[in-house]
Amino acid sequence: MHEEEQRKLEIFSDGKNLKFPPEPDEIEVSVFGPGYGECVAVHSGRNNWFIVDSCIDTFTRKPAALVYFEKIDVDPSVAVKQLIATHWHDDHIRGFSKLLDVCKSAQLVCSTALNNPEFRELVCCYGTRSMLESSGIDEFRDVFETLKKRKETDIGNYTPVFAGQDRRIWEGDSEVFGSPAHCEIFSLSPSDSTILASMLGFADLLPRSGDTKRWLPAISPNRAAVVIWLKVAHFSILLGSDLEEHGEPDGGWSIIVNSHSPQRGKASIFKIPHHGSVTAHHPGVCADMLDANPIAVLTPFLRGGILLPTKNDTQRITSSTRNAFVTCGIPTRSIKRDRTTERTIKEAVKDIRTLFGPSGPVRIRLQRPDMVKVELFGDAKQLQVLST
Ligand SMILES: [Zn+2]
Repeated sequence: MHEEEQRKLEIFSDGKNLKFPPEPDEIEVSVFGPGYGECVAVHSGRNNWFIVDSCIDTFTRKPAALVYFEKIDVDPSVAVKQLIATHWHDDHIRGFSKLLDVCKSAQLVCSTALNNPEFRELVCCYGTRSMLESSGIDEFRDVFETLKKRKETDIGNYTPVFAGQDRRIWEGDSEVFGSPAHCEIFSLSPSDSTILASMLGFADLLPRSGDTKRWLPAISPNRAAVVIWLKVAHFSILLGSDLEEHGEPDGGWSIIVNSHSPQRGKASIFKIPHHGSVTAHHPGVCADMLDANPIAVLTPFLRGGILLPTKNDTQRITSSTRNAFVTCGIPTRSIKRDRTTERTIKEAVKDIRTLFGPSGPVRIRLQRPDMVKVELFGDAKQLQVLST
């Protein structure tokens, strides 16, 4: 019998009880996502919290994780141990510098790909609000400033941890399911060859002498996104960030699946990568790294005509697990306008985006490994294939 079949799953969608914090020996994974942006908060026991990425709460315009901590009466300045930036795309990094400001004892974790002079120079060249509207580069400029200030004043944690393939980024004692437990967090990516490719990519973007400063072209750091494996006692969680799969053996999900040791076990909770997109799908993840019917959560993405997950994505995901959830509603199609209307809108406003309801969260809590409570808040719901 698979582990999952012994597990009792209770789903609550009445939106009650948000304000109650987890018990000290309870595991929690909460996923926030307002239709554009993503954040995951994990409680690994003993009031130790980890935050992966950041998004802005639709109503308060503050980082969703901070709004949540206020509601459940947790003090992020002491409770948050690490803040993990999986990559610098705008939808995963908005509000991250504010998080770092508030979570004073938290250590910053980011990709090794960002620990190079080319990226820092890129931040210097392009990290100005006048050049880029709400860019991930701007957030990183503020993050570096905060670390610099912390170092100068010797207040707060200023030593970052750089994530790479199969690297243990945290370990400590905890308590879950009523017993003492050990907690370990590993980064599973980016691979060495991906890091090299990213460095070369950053170097290409730097302005040459005599160049005028230009708009930073859209580049895709999803190949270098940081995937997280969190293990506490015998329970594992896989957080897939936006890592994509391009069939290259030395990168993407291929290298993670091929190097996954059976001793590490299988994850029971899965944050689906890249908003459910097929470009982040690797069949080996489900077969080798996850329990049967894992609890899988995704955040949708709708911006600039891109709509994720598609109907096919939803079909693929729900055929792999009957326990898939989404943080807010997914429109069945993006809005199509004729060219003239599109141009008029672009001239009139800086940015246009679909408004979603409250950004979840989908909250998963375990008091025992065989008893899982999934609570759906705001517009969060179970993922289902829509007929239209
Ligand atoms: Zn994303």
